[in-house]
Amino acid sequence: MTYQCALCPYKAKHKGYLTKHMLIHKDPSEVKTYDCSFCSYKAKVKGSLTRHMLTHKDASEIV
Ligand SMILES: [Zn+2]
Ligand SMILES: [Zn+2]
Repeated sequence: MTYQCALCPYKAKHKGYLTKHMLIHKDPSEVKTYDCSFCSYKAKVKGSLTRHMLTHKDASEIV
């Protein structure tokens, strides 16, 4: 059993993969992302942004 993308030839063995894949066909503005307020970094997972923010924090506190 494979899950076929309706918009491109992509096929997935798991429904979860297809769901994730479908995000690339969505308008970027519709996809929820966590944006860094200090740079152009964007994360799809909040944990990734939290971890990324540490790089800014370290840089400012070391000074
Ligand atoms: Zn597709
Ligand atoms: Zn940043």
